Amino acid sequence: MPDTDFRSPRLYLDAPLAAGGRVPLDRNQGNYLGNVLRLGTGAKVLVFNGRDGEWQAAIAGRKRPEHLDIVAATRAQDRLPDLHYVFAPLKHARLDYMIQKAVEMGVCKLQPVLTRFTQVARVNSERMRANVIEAAEQCGILSLAEVEDPVTLDRWLSARAAERLLVFCDEAASAVNPVAALEPVRGITRGIDVLVGPEGGFAEDERANLLKQPNTLRLSLGPRILRADTAAVAALALVQAELGDWTQPEKQPTR
Ligand code: SAH
Repeated sequence: MPDTDFRSPRLYLDAPLAAGGRVPLDRNQGNYLGNVLRLGTGAKVLVFNGRDGEWQAAIAGRKRPEHLDIVAATRAQDRLPDLHYVFAPLKHARLDYMIQKAVEMGVCKLQPVLTRFTQVARVNSERMRANVIEAAEQCGILSLAEVEDPVTLDRWLSARAAERLLVFCDEAASAVNPVAALEPVRGITRGIDVLVGPEGGFAEDERANLLKQPNTLRLSLGPRILRADTAAVAALALVQAELGDWTQPEKQPTR
């Protein structure tokens, strides 16, 4: 990625971005730039809004950063692969971690599903959205993954597009080579859903129902049981490396 500047601070702005524009900073953003990064007027940062690519911007303000003056485009808007991460939500810090890692791995949608052994009752979607933005800011990601509202696993299965590949990460699957398991679906051009269960694993009837679904690929993540947030990274790395935009960026279907 020769053209990506990973040194300059990056900030998500929910505002149109165009050369010559001036975007006001909210209190948190002004505080982050001025007090945390100790940047003053004229300092340059990179900004993105998830739609208009990445832009260089100059800090403006009398005493502390109050606005950003949009200077020039630095990167064109790109698109994420059509890869959804479907997961049983975890408790706070582990969920924060899992969301950020899924975003770094390039998913375009985060779908929490409530399964029999899911240990959390409520899911804070706003907190998940904040984690999406934080991961995007830190990792030079230009598109924001969508955060869907939680639904039950059954509801999600009945609503999903049946032609999509469902990569079912099953802790009960016999440990076979996951790369070989993904081989038959290499080069697919339809969307992919990667499903990871809760810390308590999938219930037997959930497993049976999942294995009956069309286009389901049962994936083993090796001979050991991984914690759900570890499984997220392992599964998404395998899928991106074998089927996603880690191999043929130009050919991937995008959202
Ligand atoms: N019952 C175990 C498994 C839960 S692990 C426990 O309580 O620890 C959480 C999820 O991570 C699983 O539902 C599965 O989706 C995924 N996972 C963990 N280890 C896996 C493996 N070896 N193969 C496939 N999926 C795995």
